[in-house]
Amino acid sequence: MDLRPEEISGLIKEQILHYEDKLQLDDVGTVITVGDGIAHIYGLEGCMSGELLAFPGGVYGMAQNLEEEVVGAVILGEDEAIREGDTVRRTGRIAEVPVGKALLGRVVDALGRPIDGKGPVSTSTTRPIEAPAPGIIARAPVSVPLQTGIKAIDAMVPIGRGQRELIIGDRQTGKTAICLDTIINQKGTGMVCIYVAIGQKRSTVRQAAETLQKSGAMDYTCIVAATASEPAPMQYIAPYAGCAIGEYFMHKGKDVLIVYDDLSKHAVAYRALSLLLHRPPGREAYPGDVFYLHARLLERAANLASGGSLTALPVIETQAGDVSAYIPTNVISITDGQIFLESDLFHAGVRPAVDPGVSVSRVGGSAQIKAMKKVAGTLKLAYAQYRELQAFARFGSDLDADTQKRLAQGERIVEVLRQPQNSPLPVEQQVMILYAVVSGALLELPVDQIDAFERKLFELVGETYREVSQAIRSTGRLDDAAREQLDLAIEACKAQLRAKH
Ligand code: ATP
Ligand code: MG
Repeated sequence: MDLRPEEISGLIKEQILHYEDKLQLDDVGTVITVGDGIAHIYGLEGCMSGELLAFPGGVYGMAQNLEEEVVGAVILGEDEAIREGDTVRRTGRIAEVPVGKALLGRVVDALGRPIDGKGPVSTSTTRPIEAPAPGIIARAPVSVPLQTGIKAIDAMVPIGRGQRELIIGDRQTGKTAICLDTIINQKGTGMVCIYVAIGQKRSTVRQAAETLQKSGAMDYTCIVAATASEPAPMQYIAPYAGCAIGEYFMHKGKDVLIVYDDLSKHAVAYRALSLLLHRPPGREAYPGDVFYLHARLLERAANLASGGSLTALPVIETQAGDVSAYIPTNVISITDGQIFLESDLFHAGVRPAVDPGVSVSRVGGSAQIKAMKKVAGTLKLAYAQYRELQAFARFGSDLDADTQKRLAQGERIVEVLRQPQNSPLPVEQQVMILYAVVSGALLELPVDQIDAFERKLFELVGETYREVSQAIRSTGRLDDAAREQLDLAIEACKAQLRAKH
C-alpha cells in the first residue's frame, strides 16, 4: 500500500486532534470487591468525595474513601446484583433527593423514593443531600417560640424557631412521643414538619405515621424512613436527605421543624460502614470523624435573617441514664440545650418524664411569650425548691408549716405538669393552668382533683371568660384585667369542685 507523506501527516494530525477523547476512560472504574453494602472500585481517578456512582442495573453508590488507586463506595440499595469486574461510571453529581410540596403527606426512603404505596412523588426539583450550613451573617437570633404544646417543655425548657434542642433519655421513656406531639401541635401554624426515622422497626414507623395521620398532621409533614432492615448506608444518609427536604422549604421562607429519631442509631450505622471501609476505629470503635458527622448535620438548623427557619430536634438514646458516653456528650455539645427524660420519673408516672434539674434550653426566655415567661419563672423556682425539700422530707422529721406548704405546692406542680400523649395544649391554656398553680390557688385542692380542675377551668374560660384567652393570644401578656377575670374563673371552678365532693 502506497501512502503519500501528506496523508501520513494528516492521519497523525487527526490522531492528535482526538487524543484528548481517550481520557474519558478515567471516568470509569472496575469493581474489585463487593459485599455488605460496600464496594471497592479500581480507577475513577477524578472522583469527588460524596459523588454519586452509577453501577450496572440502575443501582447507585456514593464515593466515601478516596485512595490513590481505589475508591471505597457505599451502595445505596441492594448490592446483590453487583459483581466483581462490573463497570462503574462517575456521574459528576453528588447524592441528591427530590424536594418540594409534593413530599408533604408522604413517606419516603433515604433517597426520596416513596414507600407508602401512594404512587410516585411528582416533583422535578432536587437538592444535594449535603449542603453547607448558612453562615453567621445570614442568621438572626432565635426569637419566635416553637410551641410544643407540652406544659413541662414550653414552660421550663422553651424551644425557639431555628434552635437545636436535644431530646435524650433511655429507651422507652417517651422520646418519640414528645416529638410526635410537637409535630401535631404545629397544626394551623404554617409550619412544615419532617420526621426522620433512623434504624427503627418498620412497625414503629408505621405507628408514627398513623398517629400523625389520625391527628391530621400528615398534611404538612413528610416522613423519611431508613428502618433497621435497610442497609447501613441508607440509614447513614437519611438525616441529610431529610434536612435537604426541610432546607428547601426554609429557603422558600417557611418555618420548618425536623426530628431526627434517633442519632444514636445513626452513629451506629455510620460506625458499621466505616469499619467495612477499613477506616481506623477510635473511641467505642467509632471513626474519628463521628463528631463531624452530627455537627455538620445540626449546623444546618438556622433562623435566617431573610425569613425562614429550620428547627432541629435530634433524639439520643442513652444506656442506663449515662449522658457521659461518647455519642451523647458529642451531641449535647453541638445542640443549644437538652430535654433529659428520666426513666425513674417515667415509671413513677410522671409523664412526660422531663428532669427539670438537667434539662436546659440555652435560648430560653427569648423564645417565650411574656405571659408564659412570667409564670414559668415562679414555676421553676418553686419546682426546684420542692425537689430539694423532697430529699429532706423522706426522713419523716417534723416539718414546719412553711416547708409543708412548699412540699404541697411542689406536689401540685408535678401534677399540673403531667400530660397524656397526643394532647398538646395551646399556649394560652398552658398559661392559665400554670398561673393557677403558681399563684397558690390550688393549695386547698386535693392533688387527685387537679386533673378535674384543669378540665373545668378550660371549659369555663371557653364558655364564660373568653376574654382571658383572647387577651393572652393577642397581646402575649396576662394584663391586670385578664388576671382578675382568671382569678374569678379559678375561684368558680374550685367552688364547683368543692360542691361536688
Ligand atoms: P424507644 O426507646 O423505644 O424509641 P421512646 O423513648 O421513643 O422509646 P415512646 O415510644 O415515645 O418512647 O414511649 C414509650 C411508651 O410510653 C409508649 O407506650 C407511649 O405510649 C408511652 N408514653 C409516652 N409518653 C407518654 C405520656 N405523656 N403519657 C402516657 N404515656 C406515655
Ligand atoms: Mg422512640
